[in-house]
Amino acid sequence: MSAVPAQRQTLTIVSGFLGSGKTTWLRHQLHAGEFRGAVVLVNEAAAAPVDDALLADLARVIVLPGGCACCDKRSEFLSLLAGLVDEKMRSGEAGGHIVLETSGLADPAALVEAIRSHPMLAHHIVVDEVIVTVDAGCGLANIRTNRLVAKQIEGADRVIVTKMDSVPSAACSALCATIARINPGARLSGAMNGEAMALPPFDPTTAVLPGHSHISEILAVGTADTSLTQPILDFVRTASEERKTPTSKIAARPTKRPSPAAAR
Ligand SMILES: [Zn+2]
Repeated sequence: MSAVPAQRQTLTIVSGFLGSGKTTWLRHQLHAGEFRGAVVLVNEAAAAPVDDALLADLARVIVLPGGCACCDKRSEFLSLLAGLVDEKMRSGEAGGHIVLETSGLADPAALVEAIRSHPMLAHHIVVDEVIVTVDAGCGLANIRTNRLVAKQIEGADRVIVTKMDSVPSAACSALCATIARINPGARLSGAMNGEAMALPPFDPTTAVLPGHSHISEILAVGTADTSLTQPILDFVRTASEERKTPTSKIAARPTKRPSPAAAR
């Protein structure tokens, strides 16, 4: 059985590591009129969701809290999508768009696979784009210390480097080179507070490969000019030190300030 194409809904997945600026970016896009009319599905690992309060005044928001849609909350996530498909079919309207903001711990490729291998959703939901946000400030350290961050980048059609004002452009260039090395096919752009911002030019040889502990060796291969590499090395070293907190602690800390919309 195949679905009538006009009844298919498109799904945009917005993913990225903890604190990488997904909500800020998405909220700005909604304000700017992107994803107009879309249902926004917010998945949060935390049991008490906070992200949705920032979005609720801009779109219809459905929250899936208390776990990650790509793993422990997968069946709930798929049921939610099935419910949206059912609702759309009953309404008789064609098309429709869903935007999923994943938890910071999600692997977007696993989400795409879960939909494509679902007997019903595979015919009714088309994933149109996977967008992954990467924090300019700690993205490089995160890539090195957490395999999930590289996996998120690998699964992206588009990578947005956020908080670009937070780092010198040499560090941002190394991050861009690294992202381009991990996923050469992804479109790469920059943002600050959700607003598009031009990325600095980058040299592919300055890419810092995930899993390597000897960055100095990697960078030394790329360029003999230590005046270029030293600031990056210092930056990565400091950032790595700051990020030694275990992931469980990062996940547990409060990440958002209260919003006036929360009182609704
Ligand atoms: Zn997961």
